[in-house]
Amino acid sequence: MTNEELANLIFPNITKEIEDYEKEYPKRDLKEGAIVTRYAPSPTGFIHIGALLASFTGKTFAKQTDGIFYLRIEDTDTKRTVDNGITEIINGLKEFEVTFDEGPISETESNGNYGPYIQSERKEIYQAFVKHLIKEGKAYPCFCSAEEIDLVRKEQERSKARIGYYGSYAKCREMSNDERARRIKNGESYIIRFRSNGDYNKKIICHDEIRGDIAFPENDLDIVINKKDGLPTYHFAHIVDDYLMRTTHIIRADEWISSLPLHYQLFQAFNFKVPKYAHISPLAKIDEETGGVRKLSKRKDPECAMSYYHKLGIPYEAVRLYLATITSSNFEEWYLHNPDKTIEDYKFEFKKMSKSAGLFDLEKLNNICRNYISRLKADNLYNRTQTYLKQYDLDFYNIFTKDKDYSISILNIEREQKKPRKDISCYSDVKKEIWYMYDELFTNLNYEFQNINDKEEIKNILNTYITKYYDENDDKDTWFNKMKSLCDKLGYASDMKEYKLNPTSYKGSVADVSMVIRVALTTKTMTPDLYEIMKILGRNRIVERFNKI
Ligand code: GLU
Repeated sequence: MTNEELANLIFPNITKEIEDYEKEYPKRDLKEGAIVTRYAPSPTGFIHIGALLASFTGKTFAKQTDGIFYLRIEDTDTKRTVDNGITEIINGLKEFEVTFDEGPISETESNGNYGPYIQSERKEIYQAFVKHLIKEGKAYPCFCSAEEIDLVRKEQERSKARIGYYGSYAKCREMSNDERARRIKNGESYIIRFRSNGDYNKKIICHDEIRGDIAFPENDLDIVINKKDGLPTYHFAHIVDDYLMRTTHIIRADEWISSLPLHYQLFQAFNFKVPKYAHISPLAKIDEETGGVRKLSKRKDPECAMSYYHKLGIPYEAVRLYLATITSSNFEEWYLHNPDKTIEDYKFEFKKMSKSAGLFDLEKLNNICRNYISRLKADNLYNRTQTYLKQYDLDFYNIFTKDKDYSISILNIEREQKKPRKDISCYSDVKKEIWYMYDELFTNLNYEFQNINDKEEIKNILNTYITKYYDENDDKDTWFNKMKSLCDKLGYASDMKEYKLNPTSYKGSVADVSMVIRVALTTKTMTPDLYEIMKILGRNRIVERFNKI
């Protein structure tokens, strides 16, 4: 029996040839150097922060070169697929402004001319490619049962041989086509394996855009390319898809780097040009228990899930800045020198990307967030915060949005100035930092009075101040001078230098007195500018708050 007859026996209904698909999915008409790349997740129901890194990276390179960034759902491992997994990916990424030029837009619909973009819908296409390899003698049916494969593995372990289906261990490799046909006709179950022509003792040089040339032993494993369920394995599916979808760059996690020799070999088995590969280093962290570096873990690290950032209301731009900081060697410095530019102005380059794991540090992310939010205009922060609150804190949303201008005026305290306030690192911080400005929330209070603790003295200070020294029309200098006069009158030092020289001559200092007023108005010892707070509260509410003491 010829290879062609065997191929027809295995795939009688597959009539299309590779050339038919090449015509259906022609070369893309893009300018020279345009990068076509993809994000290709399995719909497992969990979006890892590494996914964001991979998709940001893919999108950025495509955008920088006027290329195409598409989404492809890799669901050939049906055991790992969850319901609504596709929607979760699309929505999860959209929250971080990662959108696609092509690919699924819901569980059932897609955009673009190179689809289907969901692998389980591409079965016939893969089978046409498998059929082609069988015809060429580059693939064959394998009848080994799981038990037989297991026995081979045990034997390899015992004799300290390399594990896998290769050489003399590849039992079905040299079977005659007649025997294959007989067993198929006999109804025996089988899978299809690639017939490797590699020699493990020879080297192959593979190129990675980030790491450069890497030498590997050639692949000599006859890997499974088509499973019992008729679907391909990842290795095979990505070859077919990236070829037909006209991918120029395969940007993916570095867990795949050791498969490069096999992937090169598969492209070459079809005489296809090998696309460029870029393997992104994983995100790691210092393990709290051992002190050693380890990959971020879905099980141990809540910050591993993208939902963590969303729930806290961490601006996606800040996450992106942070990821760029830990994965692109000169990004941080560039941003420091170009604080007014956006990340879009930075030219990402593969060779500047980290070759080793990027160390993930929440404290650093926090700082980037604080800086980022400190530069937002108040109305922008207001809009972002209200969108966040609408989803995560409806009670505060109602209070916050009741009087938009009022809330914006609070957010505007110490903003748009050389050293803006940096108390807010995420949208969920907004309530923590400004709740006391809302009378609805100014109940059940717990005042943090400091040096001046005596209730009578506190009342005396507040009373003297409001009756003799406070005028809501005062400008800041006058306001401060009056605070000092209040101190002089009550026996507190109005001048800090003088107080430091003669602390015993005074009951305390202007800092202590203004602390009393700050705590009485806000309960807190640390707030943005007290003068601004008082301006926004206005006389009546100040009196009301003083009277609560
Ligand atoms: N589906 C593969 C994964 O989730 C994607 C690898 C690739 O991008 O080619 O790891």
